Amino acid sequence: MGSSSEGSAPDPYTPGNGSTAYRVKHYDLTLDYKLASNRLSGRAVLTMAAHRELHQLELDLSGLRTTKVTSDTVRVRSFKERAGKLVVAFRDPVPDDAELRLDIRYEGNPAPISGIWGDVGWEELTDGVLVAGQPTGAPSWFPCNDHPSGKASYRFTVTTDAGYRAVCNGVLVSRIAKSSRTTWVYEQSEPMPTYLATVQIGRYDLVALNDPAQPAVHLPRHAGGGRERGRPVPQYAAVPAALAHAAKASLGRHHEMMTAFEECFGPYPFPQYLLVVADDELEIPLEAQTLSIIGRNHLDEGWEAQRLIAHELAHQWFGNAVTTARWQDIWLHEGFACYAEWLWSEASGATTAEAHARSTHQRLAGEPQDLVIGDPGAADMFDDRVYKRGALALHALRTAVGDDAFFGLLRSWTAEHRFGSVTTPDFLAFVTRTLPGTDAEALLGPWLHTGALPAP
Ligand SMILES: [Zn+2]
Repeated sequence: MGSSSEGSAPDPYTPGNGSTAYRVKHYDLTLDYKLASNRLSGRAVLTMAAHRELHQLELDLSGLRTTKVTSDTVRVRSFKERAGKLVVAFRDPVPDDAELRLDIRYEGNPAPISGIWGDVGWEELTDGVLVAGQPTGAPSWFPCNDHPSGKASYRFTVTTDAGYRAVCNGVLVSRIAKSSRTTWVYEQSEPMPTYLATVQIGRYDLVALNDPAQPAVHLPRHAGGGRERGRPVPQYAAVPAALAHAAKASLGRHHEMMTAFEECFGPYPFPQYLLVVADDELEIPLEAQTLSIIGRNHLDEGWEAQRLIAHELAHQWFGNAVTTARWQDIWLHEGFACYAEWLWSEASGATTAEAHARSTHQRLAGEPQDLVIGDPGAADMFDDRVYKRGALALHALRTAVGDDAFFGLLRSWTAEHRFGSVTTPDFLAFVTRTLPGTDAEALLGPWLHTGALPAP
């Protein structure tokens, strides 16, 4: 019989989510969604590998009803729902290392999941849908093994009302319009954690942000992913028609931002980049793999909007291609993305990173110095100090080693760990190994492992 130890959670920050008993290698999601009734009918085919002998396994799924679970590889005995979990039991134990596939049908009215980080997951907009998965929103719309270290490839087939565009991660491979419904198929071949999986639905037009001669919809697919050498990264915005003009104006320098970041961080890791502009005001933008989502209020040429657009773009390298294996190390995403804001400011001819660092340090010095950003605790993982102090730590490193060594380090970090999972100890070891003579712990430890703010 199954035992609860088979569902042991991998992360103390999200103890209710994820399982170390197996991993998912591929998610094939087929979704039918009706906007007027917020009705989702889903089919998820998961290809998995057992990490131990399994009598049952637990998937994360919240607020939706499972109607059927079948398999062509194992004999399913039963399935039941229990407090945000779908528990599938097998007739015969699945051996350690075995590959298995589950075909899960589910349905319901998806809704955000409330927690200590507010509401996350599937959310209805005024006229469409937004999915904000970080950190535990994925189970609001598909059954999954919800943890940042669990990276998988995805295929999304989304059927929704005609007149709307469904945007998912990866590359659009087909679009089939019938009278009242349109089906959109996306493939995300580069590995992706569950929290970055997304579907955005709205009355969106596609606008090219760089050379309009770039293929707009159907991009050639390359065997190894990525894009042809020397070719600019295709960049688009998905915008409501009424905002197309504002989008072109406020994203007019986006291609320069991309070029500046490729120089600093190395090649953009995915085949394309898309900015979804929701027809609503959003409190904060958010990143997903191969795309970001901003609100109509972020279409602004001022620094406050531009820094957020830079921040989300930088997450494609830091967070999406190179992902923390555990939430406590989230500064590896947010500190880097925040530092990227300052780098874009500098590259665009505005305030230097040094000046941003000075004023930010001054401001942080006036705030409580009780947060250890290398392990801030679940409730404070999105605290602004994780972001800003993480950026200051990187600036301290840059100041100590010089620009050539610093940017060389960032480029080799993204090259070596692209599509992988990392921790803070990995980063410190990498700094020490890459920059001989640099004691990473002595230099960065006070920023990461103590509450008191080090001198600038
Ligand atoms: Zn961020």
